[in-house]
Amino acid sequence: MPDPRASRPDHPAGSVRLEVYRVKSPVPTLVRTLSDEYIGIGTHFVKERTREKGRSRYCPGKEECTYCRTSPVQWKGYFPAEVYEKESSTWIPWVFELTEASEVDVRGKFGRGQCWFFAREKRAGRGGNPVVARFGKQLDCELLRPAFEVWPVLRTVYGVQTFDLLIANPTPDRVFLPPSTDTEGVPSAWLPKTPTEPATVASQEEWRKARQELNGFAKMP
Ligand SMILES: [Zn+2]
Repeated sequence: MPDPRASRPDHPAGSVRLEVYRVKSPVPTLVRTLSDEYIGIGTHFVKERTREKGRSRYCPGKEECTYCRTSPVQWKGYFPAEVYEKESSTWIPWVFELTEASEVDVRGKFGRGQCWFFAREKRAGRGGNPVVARFGKQLDCELLRPAFEVWPVLRTVYGVQTFDLLIANPTPDRVFLPPSTDTEGVPSAWLPKTPTEPATVASQEEWRKARQELNGFAKMP
C-alpha cells in the first residue's frame, strides 16, 4: 500500500490531498465505499511517443476523440472511498479507480458502506493481470464520513473541465452455472467406491472396459 504522506508531502497537517487510487499490488487493499454509485468514463492509454505517453486520456466519444483512431477505449470507474493504511491505522480518503475487470465483481452489489478487498492478480500468460474485488462486509453507513465529489480530482487527472460522456463498462457479466451431480454417462469404474468395497477382479475388468471406451472417445473426431 503506498504511503500517502510520502507521495503527497504538500498536504496540510492532519489531512491528505485527494488523489486517484489505482490497485497495483497483489496484496489485498481494504476499501470502504462512501457513495451508492460509481461513475464510468471511456479512456485511452497513450502508447505513442508523445508528451502524453504512458498516461490515460479521457475519451469524449468517437466523433471528437483523437485517440479513438489509434487505440481501443478502456473503461474506468471512480467512486469516493477510504483505503485502510495499516502503518498509521487510519482510513485514507481516495478517489478509487475501478477497472473493467474489477467492476464486474462489484456490479449489482455496490453501495455505500461496504468493505471490499481489491488486488491485482498475478496470472501467467497473456491477458494481463486483472484487478479483482472480493466483498468483505456491509458496515453501518451512519458511522462513515459523507461521500465527497470525485470530479475535481478527475478534472486534474485527465486535464478536462467537463466529462460529457459517462458510459457503462462494456465487459459482459460473468456467467455462473452449478455443476450437475448425477452419474449419467459416467463409466462405472469412475464412480466413487465405498471404502468398504474391496478391489475385485470384476472391478479390474470394469477398469479395462472403461479404458477401452475412453480410447474409443479419443479416436472420435
Ligand atoms: Zn476515444
